[in-house]
Amino acid sequence: MILQTDIKFVPGVGPKRAGILNKELDVFTLGDLLRYYPYRYIDRSRMYYVHEIDGSMPYIQLKGKITAFEMFGEGRKKRLVAHFTDGTGFIDLVWFQGIRFVENKYKANQEYIVFGKPTLFNNRWNIAHPDIDPYLSEADRPDGLMAMYNTTEKMKNHYLNSKAVQKIIENAFGMINGRLPESLSADVVKTAHLMSFHDAVENIHFPRNPVLLRDAEFRLKFEELFFIQLNIVRYAADRKDKLNGFVFKRVGKYLNSFYEKHLPFELTNAQKRVIKEIRKDTASGKQMNRLLQGDVGSGKTLVAVMCMLIAMDNGFQSCLMAPTEILASQHFETFRGLLSDMDVNVALLTGSTRKKERADIHAGLLSGDIHILIGTHALIEDVVQFNNLGFVVIDEQHRFGVAQRAKLWSKNEHPPHVLVMTATPIPRTLAMTVYGDLDVSVIDELPPGRKPVQTLHRYDKKRGALYQFIREQVKAGRQAYIVYPLIEESETLDLKNLEEGFVHIREAFPEFTVCKMHGRMKPAEKEEVMQRFVANEAQIMVSTTVIEVGVNVPNASVMVIESAQRFGLSQLHQLRGRVGRGADQSYCVLITPYELSSDTRKRMEIMTESNDGFVIAEADLKLRGPGDLEGTQQSGIPFNLKIADLVRDNAILFRAREVAESIISRDPKLSQPEHLVLKQQLSRLSGNRYDWGRIG
Ligand code: ADP
Ligand code: MG
Repeated sequence: MILQTDIKFVPGVGPKRAGILNKELDVFTLGDLLRYYPYRYIDRSRMYYVHEIDGSMPYIQLKGKITAFEMFGEGRKKRLVAHFTDGTGFIDLVWFQGIRFVENKYKANQEYIVFGKPTLFNNRWNIAHPDIDPYLSEADRPDGLMAMYNTTEKMKNHYLNSKAVQKIIENAFGMINGRLPESLSADVVKTAHLMSFHDAVENIHFPRNPVLLRDAEFRLKFEELFFIQLNIVRYAADRKDKLNGFVFKRVGKYLNSFYEKHLPFELTNAQKRVIKEIRKDTASGKQMNRLLQGDVGSGKTLVAVMCMLIAMDNGFQSCLMAPTEILASQHFETFRGLLSDMDVNVALLTGSTRKKERADIHAGLLSGDIHILIGTHALIEDVVQFNNLGFVVIDEQHRFGVAQRAKLWSKNEHPPHVLVMTATPIPRTLAMTVYGDLDVSVIDELPPGRKPVQTLHRYDKKRGALYQFIREQVKAGRQAYIVYPLIEESETLDLKNLEEGFVHIREAFPEFTVCKMHGRMKPAEKEEVMQRFVANEAQIMVSTTVIEVGVNVPNASVMVIESAQRFGLSQLHQLRGRVGRGADQSYCVLITPYELSSDTRKRMEIMTESNDGFVIAEADLKLRGPGDLEGTQQSGIPFNLKIADLVRDNAILFRAREVAESIISRDPKLSQPEHLVLKQQLSRLSGNRYDWGRIG
């Protein structure tokens, strides 16, 4: 097939350039080349003047003359400068390579069109390695949009600049007889109102007008996202098909009596909805795999408790796995508090559980005497065996790897239902891509009466007023956290920071009790400090980020984050979530130096402006790009998307998901003849670079 043609046979390529294209762009075949999409377009009908150049221009074209050439430097530092003017001002054209070629080709005092990106160097505007065309009369000049391609240093050294790439693509088009075969099935093209593959590829490289370009972009973005979604949906459907789950038929006395007698407050509508979704799953006969997203403080724990009671009503055991001992023991206390006069046996198992107690727990799990087990990853150990584990909750999931999840499943002959709870909101687009095989529930509502945390940004030179503020809060009966960053490269330096901070804070607040907490302390020590803080025996806690997730002390109303510039947005949001858990107005103070990069300043602004975890997660995705988000690296997802953008193109993503779902619901195995092409594309994509099948 033509698309499989080796790139070296395309006129203008040959073996040497083919090697460079292979290495630099991962382009091996004519098909790969056609899918090497431009990154932007220049409007050829727009001519700029030198005097209007400013720093904001990405790529421009100028019309004018070279007045003189000048050579600077020696040997490898040599550079050729051409002084260029269009009558409104001067700009330098600069070459560091191919100097001989340029000198021979271009002459002073002839009219040229120059393309390039202007930059300021030594207070003069210049364009490095511009594209130059002889000036043609208006009538002969190409108009419309010209595609620009990313190229690498190595490519440029072999004269493979954007323009050369375009020429090669033009030549490749010349080799095609008739039309390119369609890469999507006819039903998809029709339902989603897509341009044909042939027209899309043609218009993405050589747009005939802006409208056709937009349609071409839509089509190619859709296709890219569609195949990711098709793969996920197919995989999830396949697994659901295979994995029979326990059936939780009924709601019985445990849930009912909890609901009637023990529930300390009215459930929020979001909590009710999520519990309903889980009930539906667990009654369906298929194994549930559900991601529960809810901002910090949204009440996920209660949802977990109630689902576990449903499991009990159906004769099953449950467990909850938390990422740290502090969190596990907090959950344990919460559960015991909520279930105190019910006939429910809850146990806590962590790394520091004593040997004797551990043995008792093991026995209790096997006999079925223990109904609910709470713990850390100590739960995963092989010696921990259940009588009949039916429901597993994983809290703060991004700290657990996929392998650990799988290990929990294998504790039974049949896999239990799994609920993964996360307070690190993942933008929906990303969730659909990374956790695409999990069903998603969202608690998008906080319990009533919560006041949004007020967030302030302060410079580190001005601590006086802040300390006064903390003093007033503590005098009014509240408590405060002061968090120091964790610098991974140097744990020692970290502790030094923390120690110094601790000493300093103690001196600044002699009238209060200050405690400290960090990751190197023994679990029992941490536990003791936490208990003292919970009991308000200490009013100020100086800590590293060990308190980042889950810690719940409703009386704390001030969170001070030192060196806030060192934290990412989602981490700042997590830390802020430690306050605002009670009825009082709470505050979060971000402390940074005065000098900040523009990205960091932006982060601080987002934090002071928004309390919404989803808004923050979207902003984080925009600022950092999805590849950096926690937990995404190991997910096996191709984030080197060629044309689609998970942030900007979310509407297309949702549409692609819908279409993928409708195809799979009609033809789960893609076995209908008209879907053969989809199957082929999927195997082309997964066979090549990505392994999309291993998600989840
Ligand atoms: P998270 O979702 O961050 O895990 P938690 O489950 O720890 O949140 O709940 C935060 C706090 O809100 C807890 O003190 C909990 O008791 C309380 N809470 C949960 N649900 C409700 C509700 N429906 N009404 C009032 N308070 C609630
Ligand atoms: Mg929680």
